[in-house]
Order: sequence, then C-alpha cells, then structure tokens
Amino acid sequence: MHKASKRKYLKDETFHYSSQSGNKAMTLPSFPKEPLHEAMLYSPLPDKQVRCFLCARTCIVPDGSLGFCQVRKNENGKLYALSYGKACSVAVDPITKKPLAHFHPGSSVLSIATGGCNFRCQFCDNWMISQEKIGGTDLPPNEVVRATRDNNCQGISYTYTEPTIFFEYAYDTAKLAHQVSFFNTFVTNGYMTREAVHTIAPYLDAATVDFKGGADPEFYKKFSAVPSVEPIYAALLEMKRHEIHVEITNLVVPKTGDSLERIKDLATWIRDKMGKDTVFHLLRFHPEYKMTDLTSTPIQTLEKACSISREVGLNYVYVGNVPGHPFENTYCPKCHEVLIKRYSFEIVRWNLTKDMRCPACGYNIPIKGQFEPTGASHPHSIV
Ligand code: SF4
Repeated sequence: MHKASKRKYLKDETFHYSSQSGNKAMTLPSFPKEPLHEAMLYSPLPDKQVRCFLCARTCIVPDGSLGFCQVRKNENGKLYALSYGKACSVAVDPITKKPLAHFHPGSSVLSIATGGCNFRCQFCDNWMISQEKIGGTDLPPNEVVRATRDNNCQGISYTYTEPTIFFEYAYDTAKLAHQVSFFNTFVTNGYMTREAVHTIAPYLDAATVDFKGGADPEFYKKFSAVPSVEPIYAALLEMKRHEIHVEITNLVVPKTGDSLERIKDLATWIRDKMGKDTVFHLLRFHPEYKMTDLTSTPIQTLEKACSISREVGLNYVYVGNVPGHPFENTYCPKCHEVLIKRYSFEIVRWNLTKDMRCPACGYNIPIKGQFEPTGASHPHSIV
C-alpha cells in the first residue's frame, strides 16, 4: 500500500458513496433526513436575489438558481446548502496524506467530503466527485464525530473536494469535534472570503492550502476557470492572523505550470508574508481528467523547484507524490541531520527529542502537537 502515489491511493482506497458515480458502492446506515439547510454567509438583494460571500466568487444567485459551485440554491430569497450532511467520500487517512508534515505527526484523520467544487480544474484527480453532479449519503455531524472516535482517529479532515462549499456541514461537525477534543483540518484551494476564514477559525486547527501552476494567474484562468489568485493570498493572511497552522502546496504541472520563476516568486511571498518556517510542498502532477495529454512532472523539475524554494530561505520544503524521494524527509535546517524519515505517507523513523529539537544540535523544529502514532489501520472505509 505505502508504495502507492497519493492519486492512486485515493482512487483505490477511498469509497465514494454515490448511486450515480459508478464508483465502488457501499451501504451506510441511514439517519433521519434533515430539511433543507439554510446557508451561512449570504445577504439578501432586491428581487429575491442573494449574494453568497462564502467563497471569493461572491455569486449573485437569482431566485430558483444555483451558485457556481452547483450545491448552493436560492429558493424564494433564501440560500440553502444542498450538500449539507451528504457525505460522498469517507475514509481513514494518515495526516501525512493531506499533506500535513508538521502537525500531529503520526496521527490519523477521518477524511470526509461532499460533492461539488468552486473551481473547474481540468487536471482534478477527484473530478468524479468534485465536477459531476453527485448526491451522497446522509451522515449528520454527530455521526461523523462518532466515526472519528470509533476508528481511532485524532481528528477530522474536510478534504477531497473543496470544504468551503460544504462550509455549514464542516462548521457544525468541527464545532462538535472540538467538544470531544478532536482537531479539524481543511484541505482547500484557499479561495475563501476573509469572512469565511474568520467564521471557521475558532474550530479550524490546520489547513493545507493548495496552489496550482506556481500561482500563475493565467494558469488559474485557463485551467481552473478562476478569475484571480489574489483572494487566496488574502485567505492565507487571515489564517495566519488567526494562528491556524498552515502548510502550502503547489502542484507543478509540466509545460503549462512549471515555471521556476513563478515558483520562486511564490516561495518568496510565503517567506515574507507567512514566515520562513512555513511548510511548502511541491507536488508531482500525474495526467488526469481532461489533461491526459501531459506526462507526469519530471523528478528533476521538482528537485529544482525544491532547491529554489530552499535558496529563497524556506526551511521546510518537501516533494510530494514521489514515494521514497529524499526530499520527503525532514532535515535539520542548522546541521542537516535527518529528523523525520518518511516513505510516502508513512513515518519510518522519528529522530526528534520530546520537545521537538534536533538531537544533534538542539535546533527547535516547529511542529504542532506531539508525535502520536495512532495504531489506526488506514486507509479504510468507516463502514
Ligand atoms: S460558495 Fe462560492 S461558488 Fe458557491 S454560491 Fe457561494 S460564492 Fe458562489
């Protein structure tokens, strides 16, 4: 299992609950159905229109219509979150898969998603749940928390699709999860409004914010149908202001999104605005969905991107989706001792003191939470 790439691992081991998707079908226990769930973060406009300000698209949604994400509907001047409580993917994952390298290392999370997305990435590796109309199975927040406990997880990750667009479901679940001391993490494209970040902040412990193509605005327009990348930077700064643990990824797409200059600019922004200890993951692209004409990112390109990001001054730069690569490991920025040796999503050697210092030189490594090998078996379905 541990030799699988993130992409393959997701495909093989995540169970998608959908009668329409054609994916591996599972039966979940049934729960009482909720009536339509009113959305958060919208305001009324004349003629029963509403403005949604959950994500940076800030759609104006006419009466009877859906927002861009296809899962928020205006009915008679009220906006409803159609995917509330409708889980389409649920699995137990290692935290390293999010990826989060410096947050509760060794822990397991219950990963959960609903259908839909506010991006249209032509390379999406979860397109069958993010871009197709998909229902999902009723799984209310208290049952998500129960499943987290029953599967020996330490937290919940809102992931696979974009958690911003199932915000209310994530919010209610995260609030309950905190009551029983589970942590919450988002894996997000970052295209959230500052209001959305501010609202979820009391319950959000960590976020993986995913850039694509070196944050090149033209790449975002052309391949993700996103008009501007600026809101992502604003959301990151808001997360920092709220002291949410943030790790940043960048998908390096060959030919179209692999400019080393862009990556250098992104790494420089991270250093200057988020801090040199911010974890930066450079992810290997694999041909997927509508971009199967490209090859996987050459390893050499990823290595160059990592080196440039380190030269800029970032202390913790990792390569992702290349199992066994030495850049998966954590090295001491001062004496270069190997501190955490990884293979894909597994930690194979832990070499830090209890207070997160390098045993060779005493340098303090910024890691949130203790090393907590969970004992949970993953990945597996919750049923
Ligand atoms: S979440 Fe974003 S895409 Fe969906 S309706 Fe709101 S503003 Fe539009």
